[in-house]
Amino acid sequence: MGRIEERLKKSIAMTAATTKKVVQKLSENPKSSKYVAAHRHCVICHTPIPIDSDPAHCGAQPCSDKHARQDKSRKRLNLMMYLFPAIAIMLFLLPLFTT
Ligand SMILES: [Zn+2]
Repeated sequence: MGRIEERLKKSIAMTAATTKKVVQKLSENPKSSKYVAAHRHCVICHTPIPIDSDPAHCGAQPCSDKHARQDKSRKRLNLMMYLFPAIAIMLFLLPLFTT
């Protein structure tokens, strides 16, 4: 095994151990000081927000704007992912029917 692989394996094991320790420290008891209520984070600024908030941003104007822009570009990308292969298939099939 190469040195990079060995180092990577070691670092993965260390991360796993640290995560396990942190998870064990958190408490399920709401009265405990280490209790963390179920929540999610604003996709833009990562502020904690209620778990059922939809859309997933904190509601501040900059976050709202940025989220709307990201959503629009994501939808456009999704559309293109279907549209371009469809056009490519049409260009491939068109000569077969015109002969
Ligand atoms: Zn935010």
